[in-house]
Amino acid sequence: MFKAIYLSRDGEQFSAVVRELDDAALAAATPNDDVTVAVEYSTVNYKDGLALTNKSPVVRTWPMVAGIDAAGTVVDSSHAAWKPGDKVVLNGWGVGETHWGGLAQRARFKGDWLVRLPDGLSTRQAMAIGTAGYTAMLAIMALEQHGLKPDAGDVLVTGASGGVGSVAIALLAARGYRVAASTGKAAEAAYLASLGAAEVIDRATLSAAGKPLQKERWAAVIDSVGSHTLANACAQLRYGGVAAACGLAQGMDFPSSVAPFILRGCTLVGIDSVMCPLPRRQQAWQRLAADLDRTKLDAITRVVPLSGAFDVAREILSGQVRGRVVVDVSA
Ligand code: NDP
Repeated sequence: MFKAIYLSRDGEQFSAVVRELDDAALAAATPNDDVTVAVEYSTVNYKDGLALTNKSPVVRTWPMVAGIDAAGTVVDSSHAAWKPGDKVVLNGWGVGETHWGGLAQRARFKGDWLVRLPDGLSTRQAMAIGTAGYTAMLAIMALEQHGLKPDAGDVLVTGASGGVGSVAIALLAARGYRVAASTGKAAEAAYLASLGAAEVIDRATLSAAGKPLQKERWAAVIDSVGSHTLANACAQLRYGGVAAACGLAQGMDFPSSVAPFILRGCTLVGIDSVMCPLPRRQQAWQRLAADLDRTKLDAITRVVPLSGAFDVAREILSGQVRGRVVVDVSA
């Protein structure tokens, strides 16, 4: 038997509980999977917050074990790449949405989805990074692919005190970028500075409708907020600048114009972590292991037991979570 966060629906009635499941139930729910993992840590991402509270249709197959992330040890495998004892990380691929997920002590996945835990990173640290941190790295890789270098100018990070934002700031600062952090939480200015932000700006300056072209400020943007914030950030890009769109904390809409793109040669890059091809994931995780300051990672992370995920889910949806929350599934 093992514990899991189990989501079920009966008509309009939604239920989310910690309950015991057995290996037979897991095998029945994952008939096409070839690797069984003893999960050590998972995490609560924004999407997990939506799933655990049933706030938007994240879960599309019922019943579901929640959790879009997992890190642990392989206990059984018929996949050529994996053997018992291997340490692995799993992000996305529909896990926790259409496939039983990682907020559980045991999970079964396709071997093709798994990333080997990089040397020097523990399973707990991997989940402190989680989908949010791995997405931040995908965004930085995309910006650099578009030619961004530290001497190009300031980089704006929106949703700065959140998971994607916190990891993005730490990574950018470590690579020598000057980072401006946009936040709604003035009280977190010292926290953001400790991660490496050179400047903190009030997110209210970006969140309302603005002009299609504004004063040129940013060489690049990492945005986890969407809506008017992304539109204004694009309108403030310097000539040839690039913005990476990761999220929708303010909204799914993008009330912008083509002006920054056709008049300033700017680029908008979309970042998707869920179906990102394996080689790019492996590259992102290797770079996270090499580049991310572990002291900063510890500073942005707190750990809760499996039952603690429900409170965190509500907090993350109300924008109250600072940094990252790891779930110790054994506690
Ligand atoms: P968090 O909740 O940790 O961070 C989001 C941050 O956005 C908040 O901390 C807050 O930061 C800011 N924010 C919250 N509400 C609003 C609002 N109404 N207006 C403006 N800013 C707001 O979430 P994550 O960092 O984990 O994820 C961020 C976004 O990225 C989510 O939308 C998520 O779904 C998306 N995402 C997308 C992925 C992909 O594959 N593309 C992968 C991972 C996440 P502050 O208080 O500092 O302003």
